[in-house]
Amino acid sequence: MTKPVLIVGAGLSGAVIGRELAEAGHLVRIIDRRSHIAGNCHMARDEASGVMVHVYGPHIFHTNDDEVWAYVNRHMTFMPYVNRVKTTSNGRVYSLPVNLHTINQFFGKTLGPDEAKAFILSLSDASIGEPVTFEDQALKFVGRELYEAFFEGYTRKQWGCSPRDLPASILKRLPVRFNYDDNYFSHRFQGMPEHGYTEMVASILSHENIEVELERDFVRADAEGFGHVFYSGPLDGYFDYEFGRLGYRTLDFEEFRHDGDYQGCAVMNYGNADVPYTRITEHKHFSPWETHERSICYREYSRACGPDDVPYYPIRLSGEQALLAQYVARARMEENVTFVGRLGTYRYLDMDVTIREALDTAQSYIGAVTGNLRPPVFSMAP
Ligand SMILES: Cc1cc2nc3c(=O)[nH]c(=O)nc-3n(C[C@H](O)[C@H](O)[C@H](O)COP(=O)(O)OP(=O)(O)OC[C@H]3O[C@@H](n4cnc5c(N)ncnc54)[C@H](O)[C@@H]3O)c2cc1C
Repeated sequence: MTKPVLIVGAGLSGAVIGRELAEAGHLVRIIDRRSHIAGNCHMARDEASGVMVHVYGPHIFHTNDDEVWAYVNRHMTFMPYVNRVKTTSNGRVYSLPVNLHTINQFFGKTLGPDEAKAFILSLSDASIGEPVTFEDQALKFVGRELYEAFFEGYTRKQWGCSPRDLPASILKRLPVRFNYDDNYFSHRFQGMPEHGYTEMVASILSHENIEVELERDFVRADAEGFGHVFYSGPLDGYFDYEFGRLGYRTLDFEEFRHDGDYQGCAVMNYGNADVPYTRITEHKHFSPWETHERSICYREYSRACGPDDVPYYPIRLSGEQALLAQYVARARMEENVTFVGRLGTYRYLDMDVTIREALDTAQSYIGAVTGNLRPPVFSMAP
């Protein structure tokens, strides 16, 4: 009889790995320091308004992966949802991502696609050769006016630094569409779980071989008696931050309530740096199939993550890369542990990618155990 497996974290990574192993006959124990399952995708119904709230910020499911789409639909009905984001800049409201409507609104024109392409090309800063910074890249792609209205202030607030201090690689592709498509994502499948991600994760965890304990903070001694540990907590936290802390951005959500409809859409960004928050999300619009009289909204602020904050976005600039390399080398010396998920591998991961990697990680673990090989230390190289 193989020893049971311990999984740290009941988010999507831990739940999907746990389910796959349970179905393969392994006994699985999952612990999480929080009082709920589903990690950062957790949703809870607000008692006063009846609205389903995305507790750690809005989560929209989108993917091109057929297998992952089938997987989530096995555990929850997905309702049709298209993410359409608006932005307020210099006292006006525009459509995002920047598209033909945005360009025509912004410049007061009636351009067609080809005319708009030529127009944007005429605005781009031709003096920039190979862009080094985010600012260079944006100026080269869209020119100064669109950069200042839609990218500069937002990026400064999101990352807490000047776009001149960020690498060009952050803005990989031309952030403009020359048609009226305002669907924020371009994946084939997109939707929202009818009863929320927490219910979906509860369904994934519902297996006789899985035992879940909440409000339990992992300590290394917990691994005793288990054949293997899958760890979806912060990589540096596993080693008690012995080389220092990997940098993250955290978010503060300032909640406010409103009778009726506050902003008429789920997400309104604020492009100007003098507005301190990056966006306002109005939760009831993420569930358009429900009707609620009252409303609950979050003003979202981004700042550097302190030791007691929730780590949200890994920073991954050159300073962090050097520290990360130290932790990766240290992790590779460990036996019987696999670091998984967004925190364990210090990467931003969308939910569909998280599930894909969790499915693959479980399969490679099962293969390694069967073949008497060493399981991988990372689900994916950080
Ligand atoms: C603001 C924001 C918005 C997002 N929006 C989207 C979106 O719209 N669409 C999308 O596809 N993805 C989105 N994501 C990404 C999504 O949140 C992740 O893909 C997903 O949360 C990753 O799951 P995970 O299990 O790897 O990590 P997590 O959800 O963070 O789960 C890790 C779990 O481990 C627990 N844990 C950590 N350390 C310990 C410890 N020492 N002991 C015990 N338990 C521990 C934590 O409490 C947590 O529950 C967004 C992310 C953020 C930050």
